[in-house]
Amino acid sequence: MTPDPPTLLGYSTVIFLLLGIHFILTEFSGRRWSRMAWYGAPFFLGAVSGLFSTVHAVLPGLWGFRLSALFMIMAFGAAWQAMRIILGYPPRVFPVLLACIAFFVLSALAGPTGLFRVLSTAFRLSALAILHVLGIQDLRHATQIRTPARRNLEKLLTLYAGFYFLLVALVVWIPAPLGAAPATIWAVASYNFLTVIEVALFALGMIAIPWEQLAFQQQELILQDPLSGGGNRRAFQAWLENDGKNCAHEALLMVDIDHFKNINDVHGHAIGDQIIIAMGRVCKDLLYPTTTLFRIGGDEFVVVFQCGSVDEMLATAQRLRNAFSAETHVIGEEGITATLSIGAALCPGTGISRTDLLARADNALYAAKQTGRDRVVHFAHEENPSPPDISDTSTPCP
Ligand code: GH3
Ligand code: MG
Repeated sequence: MTPDPPTLLGYSTVIFLLLGIHFILTEFSGRRWSRMAWYGAPFFLGAVSGLFSTVHAVLPGLWGFRLSALFMIMAFGAAWQAMRIILGYPPRVFPVLLACIAFFVLSALAGPTGLFRVLSTAFRLSALAILHVLGIQDLRHATQIRTPARRNLEKLLTLYAGFYFLLVALVVWIPAPLGAAPATIWAVASYNFLTVIEVALFALGMIAIPWEQLAFQQQELILQDPLSGGGNRRAFQAWLENDGKNCAHEALLMVDIDHFKNINDVHGHAIGDQIIIAMGRVCKDLLYPTTTLFRIGGDEFVVVFQCGSVDEMLATAQRLRNAFSAETHVIGEEGITATLSIGAALCPGTGISRTDLLARADNALYAAKQTGRDRVVHFAHEENPSPPDISDTSTPCP
């Protein structure tokens, strides 16, 4: 059986139209007019392209094919814009317009055969390949969340970019519309088939990516403490359970704000909140990028970081204590005198469970509170014999 190109192209045109209508309806319900236009554009432009190549009564002869190819470049350009909008980037229409104008001039000069025909076809295929590459670059952007749908879309675009570059290299020999040689039914059918597959998978990506991004952001919010910006109790529980049973090269600080209830009573709850926010700020500014902060209770925090020695751990804890006092000193009109008690525990060389490490730091914190607050106390064990105190407020746990 030989494929019938006008019927195939007609089906593809209908598929493009349906996808366009889907995005229009989805965005229409939320009254998001600009997104409605951006998301619908690639599919409607693709449908117009299909119309020019299917219904020759619209524009017979070479101009029908020229405009069909032009609208296909526009459709791919619009698809790139739609993807940028989904990813939160502004549209970049100028390079697409430039490519469309250049192609229009080249294709107007081209006849059914000859040099300009080869040039305009090579230009069209190169433009499609480059639009794919630009899309891949946006998907790979480092600051973005790399969800499975994004990775799949990246693979799809990479595959098709490679395919279009291959067609450019073989443009003289491959029949139209894949190349510049005289068209064959099978070339039309393959081109149509490959385009429909890409468009359908692209549309699926467009639907999946916003959902995945939303799910990812909600997951982050579920695990985040809104005041300190660190992990909350749920995140801490997950960290404890996800320890691979043993800690490794980790220092754990149990941190508690001294007399926090009194600060709340004297200065008000809003100032108390600002002190918790300050704790998050200090940890972010002062400690290593790999440091993890959890707020596990009202004024109780856990700070975890990679650390090789007790000295290093205690020096870090002291820096945290001093920086916190300095930071809270400028809160409110009168300035607050807020201090921290810190219990520190370093994972021994043999490794212990994170729960045990936490218990050790908790013991040390208890000792810090008992011996007068505003100090760092560390849990001493056999593998890490007690080091000399690094300040008068740093003492080994009894
Ligand atoms: P200690 O030095 O023994 O730690 O005394 P403390 O007053 O800090 O200890 P306590 O556990 O009695 O007080 C913790 C206080 O933290 C009690 C509660 O009102 C306050 N708190 C808990 N969550 C929040 C919060 O989100 N914002 C504010 N402003 N205060 C909170
Ligand atoms: Mg407290």
